[in-house]
Amino acid sequence: MNVNVSPLGLEAKRDAIVERTLRWWDLNRRDLPWRAKPGEAADPYRVWLSEVLLQQTTAQAAAPYFQRFVQTWPTVEDLAGASTEAVIGAFAGLGYYSRARNLHACAKEVASRGGLFPDEEADLRALPGVGDYTAAAIAAIAFGRRAAPVDGNIRRVVARLMALDLPVAEAQARIRAAATELAPGRRAGDFAQALMDIGAMLCRPKNPACAACPLGGDCAARRSGAPEAFPRPSAGRPKPTRAGTAFFARRADGAFLARRRPPHGLLASTVELPGSAWTSAGPGEDWRLDAPVPAGWRRLPGGVEQAFTHFVLTLTVFAARFDGPAPAGFFWLTSELVGHAGLSSVMRKAVAHAAKAAPRRSPS
Ligand code: SF4
Repeated sequence: MNVNVSPLGLEAKRDAIVERTLRWWDLNRRDLPWRAKPGEAADPYRVWLSEVLLQQTTAQAAAPYFQRFVQTWPTVEDLAGASTEAVIGAFAGLGYYSRARNLHACAKEVASRGGLFPDEEADLRALPGVGDYTAAAIAAIAFGRRAAPVDGNIRRVVARLMALDLPVAEAQARIRAAATELAPGRRAGDFAQALMDIGAMLCRPKNPACAACPLGGDCAARRSGAPEAFPRPSAGRPKPTRAGTAFFARRADGAFLARRRPPHGLLASTVELPGSAWTSAGPGEDWRLDAPVPAGWRRLPGGVEQAFTHFVLTLTVFAARFDGPAPAGFFWLTSELVGHAGLSSVMRKAVAHAAKAAPRRSPS
């Protein structure tokens, strides 16, 4: 009888790998604000919220956002009852604002079901903004289901464990299959978090700490003598560029003119400085046509750059003093409100750039 039914050959070693990994994790786990303490039941709301905040974001950057969210909205029903502007405002600086809109839509959906998250991967996947990875993470971590979330850390660990000699984009399906083979029926959530911690703490992109790794004895990349070579990077294409303008119209008391972006599309509903559309051609000679008010505009030296998923943006910033009333569609943003107004990262950079390059004069 063939006992090894695994196409990837990991199943035969699974129990030993899982046991060593969990033993290491019980002693070395990272203490993260969204994690249940040992022996505590995981709260699906906190697991879901953390996984959404962690998408494209490091644990260190996500932690203060998570704390603010759970302090302001301790339950999914509280979050569902918040205004969209408040949720977008709390998200400001994390980027990817469609995530904030989906987060709010998902909270409303779960609240309408009595505040209970579904516990099966397929049902979780049907919620707004919950993709394959997030559904598997919630199913495993919050509900102990046998599921295999594959984030960037787990991808690297599994690719090295198998010494997959493929560019990472082509290796995705094999990595997912291997992670699924490894996922244990018991403590699946702990195992997934243990792999995440191994990826973050030991199996780093550069200088992996193989000597301390509980997977060292099974790791083909380690045996190869060059673990860093796995997985092979995918050949990247340079991102296209776009350019635009931003206008910093400042009043004597330091407030500046701002507006809210439309509720759909890039950076939906965030607050921004007035400015031009962002195009590949960039601002032309007639840039004044995009200014919100007639004023003595001055082009500030340097500019602001921000990488988005599909392009890199360069903004040229203009500054002027303006003490008239805010025109239709704009409002004055005072310095007390700036931190909570929902400015996106690129607009925070533009405001900081303008404030530095065109400092306020003390009143004479
Ligand atoms: S032994 Fe080294 S390369 Fe292999 S998983 Fe552990 S840290 Fe990564």
